[in-house]
Amino acid sequence: MGKLMIIGCGGVASVAISKCCQNADVFEELVLASRTKSKCDALAEKLTKVSKTKIVTEAVNADHPDEVYELIKKHQVTAVLNLALPYQDLAIMDACLKAGVDYIDTANYEPEDLSDPAWAERYEKRCKELGFSAYFDYSWQWDYMDKFKEAGLTGLLGSGFDPGVTSVFVAYAKKHYFDTIKTIDILDCNGGDHGYPFATNFNPEINLREVSAPGSYMENGKWVEVPAMSIHREYDFEGVGKKDMYLLHHEEIEALGRNFPEVERIRFFMTFGQSYLTHMKCLENVGMLRTDAVDFEGNKIVPIQFLKALLPDPASLGPRTVGKTNIGCIFTGVKDGKEKTLYIYNVCDHQECYKEVGSQAISYTTGVPAMIGAMLVLTGKWKNPGVYTTDEFDPDPFMEALNQFGLPWKVEENPVLVP
Ligand code: NDP
Repeated sequence: MGKLMIIGCGGVASVAISKCCQNADVFEELVLASRTKSKCDALAEKLTKVSKTKIVTEAVNADHPDEVYELIKKHQVTAVLNLALPYQDLAIMDACLKAGVDYIDTANYEPEDLSDPAWAERYEKRCKELGFSAYFDYSWQWDYMDKFKEAGLTGLLGSGFDPGVTSVFVAYAKKHYFDTIKTIDILDCNGGDHGYPFATNFNPEINLREVSAPGSYMENGKWVEVPAMSIHREYDFEGVGKKDMYLLHHEEIEALGRNFPEVERIRFFMTFGQSYLTHMKCLENVGMLRTDAVDFEGNKIVPIQFLKALLPDPASLGPRTVGKTNIGCIFTGVKDGKEKTLYIYNVCDHQECYKEVGSQAISYTTGVPAMIGAMLVLTGKWKNPGVYTTDEFDPDPFMEALNQFGLPWKVEENPVLVP
């Protein structure tokens, strides 16, 4: 039905590629392109034995739009699924625009070099005007709206779990359960244990930058920023049990705040154990989370990139991780004049994921919706010229596909609310 190029071949991409291969009627041909081609080759060799999907592999440095453009043209692909890092988003979008193909990703743009003056100027302005200081935001990609519209291309932004599925849950709640949504609490619980003193479940650099930043939430359309990890709650999660969770800034809040202006408050909480927080604080205190280059014995090194080299590769956690994740959204609002509350969530088991595709649940819960987003764009079910987040399309086909491809969800009326 279509030919997709997937860029990146890390933890999330490996799951998305495996899932595409389970869905060979839609994904007849894949081009796997990444910085380290040998990872693509290894996966292609494994999957072509069990799938009808035809796979070719390429090396690419996706920091360079021209390299991506050449590959799109060479292989005549119809869409690109970007599962490299947020640093490459704009370069890959530029290549898609030039080549005239659709674009899908799972994380919004963040610059690798925070000292870039053009980025820094805009960042300072946004911090002052909007009041949140995360290094990532949607403005850079929303700027492509007119260009994608004029070219008749679809850009689907943030088609992972959070963002991605959580935003689809919001659209689904609004479509089927509420006339007005008043509050949304997004709860991301990982009850998994990998047995290491410290490791991150996805790319360490992106993960540690996210969780060490100030927290923020949206109230009546305005951002409220608080010190990192300063808002703490406990919640009893189905399949996991009681966990400590902390309020974080998270990218879907920005898009949901814009697309659902009626919502009075949107918050995001993620669970962390005490040991994780102590390790992170210590690394931060000694400067290991710094993202700027420092001199070391005559060489320049970026501490957080050096740390990444020391930490376990998230893709290697699969066999060791036991336990479950539980990620979902709690809503309050009004239907037919009556106040109501609702919880939509998915529970996913690390070992089940490992048995199926050889990955832990964090990569799985991101890779499956990435495949679904690409499928809906390729099949034309989610086709709309411009750039959009997942809450801006009809949620029903996405929700149906979650059940079909390994992430079944539940709807619970009258859940325990987060104070
Ligand atoms: P990994 O670090 O495991 O994989 C990243 C892959 O991208 C690697 O294969 C890497 O190559 C490749 N890559 C990096 N830079 C380039 C480049 N310049 N050109 C080509 N390829 C490149 O990351 P994850 O799989 O954990 O995460 C992938 C994406 O998913 C990230 O953007 C992350 O933010 C996002 N994510 C989204 C979530 C969501 O729910 N929405 C949740 C978790 C992650 P190499 O092998 O050479 O290192």
